[in-house]
Amino acid sequence: MDPVTLQDYRTQEKSWWCPGCGDFGVLAALQKTLVGLGIEPHRVVIVAGIGCSGKIGNYINSYNIHVVHGRTLPSALGVKLANRELLVLAVGGDGDGFAIGMNHFIHAARRNIGVKYIVMDNHIYGLTKGQNSPTSELGQKVKAAPAGNLEAPVRPISLALTAGATFVAQGFSSNQAQLARLIEGAIRHPGFAFVNVLSPCVTYNRINTYDYYKETLHDLDQDPDYRPDRRGEALAKVMEREELVTGLVYRDPDSVPYEEAVPGFPKEPLAGRDMPLGGEQFAKLMEGYR
Ligand code: SF4
Repeated sequence: MDPVTLQDYRTQEKSWWCPGCGDFGVLAALQKTLVGLGIEPHRVVIVAGIGCSGKIGNYINSYNIHVVHGRTLPSALGVKLANRELLVLAVGGDGDGFAIGMNHFIHAARRNIGVKYIVMDNHIYGLTKGQNSPTSELGQKVKAAPAGNLEAPVRPISLALTAGATFVAQGFSSNQAQLARLIEGAIRHPGFAFVNVLSPCVTYNRINTYDYYKETLHDLDQDPDYRPDRRGEALAKVMEREELVTGLVYRDPDSVPYEEAVPGFPKEPLAGRDMPLGGEQFAKLMEGYR
């Protein structure tokens, strides 16, 4: 087998994103990580949500499912359970994941099926031209709320921790090296892994800019006193100002994925299993669809 290269993961698709969009950084870090790990494109499934971020599947040469709004996680979990040999990456934005898809996020976190969930969090709805999203700050002035956002923001990191997620990290799209490390950690982690990426929308969000993050972010990976293997400590730390923390927040060293915890759950892909169906059984099965 030839070594996997970046070229293997590139597509001919012209980018739809605005120049300078943070999502470019997420795409680059993800492709770099897949190449670094030597994972072949046909082993990867991207399940992309609706939003600017959902375009990412068009730019990565792998299997790609572009699902309806908010349903990245249930679709990705289904793929993973049907074929545990695949690397299944659910990728979407904060609107897709923390508004209409919120319920799925909580249950995916506590269920611990081995899907890797990457959210490109720009604190705004970019595709629909600048409405406040679930992670927009209270009082943040955006097009749809010129007098300021009236709703308190969702805090995805602390939410994931309290829901029972076994791997929680936050990256910044401009810090490629760290983001690639976090994504690699997520891929290697046995179980559900959540990486929230602060990914500036240069067109509609004039608050959470690259400069703002560069001046204010606190990197937990560089903090010698921080231990990412204690859930309570992690929660206490991020509750201070989770929107400004990057790095590995929490990893459960004893994580066991759901699919391994289910007694007798076969390891081989559903498609590869020998499931002979006699004529009578088939007719009975078809009865159910009449
Ligand atoms: Fe990126 Fe914002 Fe442009 Fe969407 S609108 S592509 S999030 S910069």
